[in-house]
Amino acid sequence: MATKVFVDNLVKKFGDNTVLNELSTTINDGEVVCLIGPSGSGKSTFLRCLNKLEEATSGTIVVDGFDITDSKTDINLVRQNIGMVFQHFNLFPHLTVMENIVLAPTDLKVLTADEASKLAMELLSKVGLADKHDAYPEALSGGQKQRVAIARALAMKPDIMLFDEPTSALDPEMVGDVLAVMKQLAEDGMTMVIVTHEMGFAKEVADRVIFTDGGKFLEEGHPTDIFERPQHERTKSFLDKVL
Ligand code: ADP
Ligand code: MG
Repeated sequence: MATKVFVDNLVKKFGDNTVLNELSTTINDGEVVCLIGPSGSGKSTFLRCLNKLEEATSGTIVVDGFDITDSKTDINLVRQNIGMVFQHFNLFPHLTVMENIVLAPTDLKVLTADEASKLAMELLSKVGLADKHDAYPEALSGGQKQRVAIARALAMKPDIMLFDEPTSALDPEMVGDVLAVMKQLAEDGMTMVIVTHEMGFAKEVADRVIFTDGGKFLEEGHPTDIFERPQHERTKSFLDKVL
């Protein structure tokens, strides 16, 4: 099986503060990995290192076959294949839903305008928002905005999707619709790295769960093992608090 993400001995420091401490992992094509762990444990920083929104202090990160820790690698090219969805949707408020989705692929000349709008309509149907193409973000609920943000990321036809707490800012009744879209994406075979506090989702959808604590991957494995037979005290006490 093809390796999509290879991380070896990743260290990230902010000043004297070591926030990622010698992390290593391999993520295969089509794998869905959920990162769980306490606030401040380095989950977002790890995710941001995978598309070089943060630069590694040392170690190696290979994404899609490109060593992004090598300064000769064109990170913008690699980023075209990595979709990222944040807690706060970051849609462009002055653009319609359709314009938000077609912007990157047309600007970067990955698709023609016609191809991009055709794909955008397909993606909007997929996330259940076909009727919203002419709406502005302000007219949408949080859950709808997040589904547009997912469609926008998918418009670049990425190989990998990164999600940083995509449902944390949503009202509870909107969480399910967003998770359903993500679950469908997982079933379609997308490689996904997801930081989440939705333990039910992680249990059901993840191929692997990584528990992060103090900048370390303390424990990882199949969700059944992590949730039902955690080995570390830290994992147990974290799960006791959140489950
Ligand atoms: P998590 O996502 O698990 O809550 P983060 O990756 O956001 O954790 O943060 C890990 C640690 O790195 C925290 O101590 C945080 O304060 C620190 N940190 C994150 N981003 C920065 C930054 N840009 N500058 C300095 N410290 C940061
Ligand atoms: Mg975070």
